[in-house]
Amino acid sequence: MISRQAGARIAIVGAGLGGSALGALLQREGFDVAIYEQAPRFMRVGAGIHLSPNLMRVLQLLGVHRQALLAGQEPAAFVNRRASDGELLYRLTLGNTASERFGATFVALKRGDLHAALMSAVTPGSVTWGKRLAGLDWRGETVELAFEDGSRAHADVVIGADGLRSRVREVLRGFEKPVYSGQVAFRGSYPRALLENLPVEDLTKWWGEHTFVLSYWLDRAREEFYFAAMTPQAEWPTDASSMPGDVDEMRSLFDDFHPDVRHMLARAPRDSVAKWALFERAPQFEFGNDRVVLIGDACHPMRPFMSQGAAMALEDATILLRAIKGSTEFGAAFATYAQHRIDRLGRVHRVSSANTFMRGPTEPDWVFGYDALSVGASTVLPPLHRTDRARAAYQLAGREFA
Ligand SMILES: Cc1cc2nc3c(=O)[nH]c(=O)nc-3n(C[C@H](O)[C@H](O)[C@H](O)COP(=O)(O)OP(=O)(O)OC[C@H]3O[C@@H](n4cnc5c(N)ncnc54)[C@H](O)[C@@H]3O)c2cc1C
Repeated sequence: MISRQAGARIAIVGAGLGGSALGALLQREGFDVAIYEQAPRFMRVGAGIHLSPNLMRVLQLLGVHRQALLAGQEPAAFVNRRASDGELLYRLTLGNTASERFGATFVALKRGDLHAALMSAVTPGSVTWGKRLAGLDWRGETVELAFEDGSRAHADVVIGADGLRSRVREVLRGFEKPVYSGQVAFRGSYPRALLENLPVEDLTKWWGEHTFVLSYWLDRAREEFYFAAMTPQAEWPTDASSMPGDVDEMRSLFDDFHPDVRHMLARAPRDSVAKWALFERAPQFEFGNDRVVLIGDACHPMRPFMSQGAAMALEDATILLRAIKGSTEFGAAFATYAQHRIDRLGRVHRVSSANTFMRGPTEPDWVFGYDALSVGASTVLPPLHRTDRARAAYQLAGREFA
């Protein structure tokens, strides 16, 4: 068993959403953390993302909540409509009501802005860029990380936060291709002016029988409009996750939708749309062993139909931090973490796959009200307290800190 005391070295593979959040959380508690990322430098990749209150709580803890609030847009409500005629299926009031009900608010923004906020909480110099993990060996005194450039590094424990095609997972289990879900998403964004005065709600999901369209604003001023239009597609012809989207194909696939949606899709400029394959894995999660542990998409990639993938990665990070703080051995901490995550991840994975969440009257508290900072038995998982810094930041943004 590896003691977590006496300056133990923790290596995190992947400085994406989960890896940067976990790195920052551990560093704030004084742990010696080195993060290895394959990208040559920080890059603002990805389209829109919306942050539910269970994720926002972790940003509060990290003190970067205000950055997300200022970069993004706080929707007034999450509106669900029937695709054919726009009939209201379910409306969840957000803003102050969400803060009161769930303990934090909702924010929609560019994924790159969320990533930048998380990276700003990471200790400068602790991320080594351009390090693509090739192999891992945990049988010696330390865990050895081998990178594709031929270099090596050592740590007492390794956390795999390397996403959907995780190399850490592959070393643990052998190669298993992520499973194509049979669904694709056309995603795009464009300036408000192109909507030509069409009144657009802040955050809307339009539900067809097997297709749906999600739309929201990416910025506080409501200047950039974002949509994701999801539809079944029998096969995905390439190993790449995305390809340029054919707007004519997209428009014809959604031509039975309400005129407002058809208008939104029709206004998308030809070069502004990408088609994404949606991948997943079965919910038999791989959490790792007593020296190596997985979080986020490396552990449990799921269909994005509840928009909970990043939220699950940040919840994982918080529960793992609490488990490490509550144990003197890493192995025991990793087991505690897995034990506390399995039911939650299983349920979110299942409901995400079924794509039923908020299709009609819904009790969303089990998803959005989940508090990774305090949930679980406090003797095993000590609660974490949000910082005064986060409190001040929240007040600066003109809101009460819940
Ligand atoms: C269409 C779509 C919409 C979504 N919308 C939402 C949403 O609205 N809300 C939400 O919460 N979630 C959403 N998600 C899910 C969310 O984007 C992911 O679940 C989240 O990014 C997972 O975080 P992660 O840290 O596990 O992985 P990532 O953020 O993907 O990070 C993995 C990192 O590991 C690095 N890496 C990979 N391999 C190696 C290697 N061998 N060596 C070193 N580094 C490596 C990568 O470069 C990357 O930086 C959506 C997903 C999709 C596909």
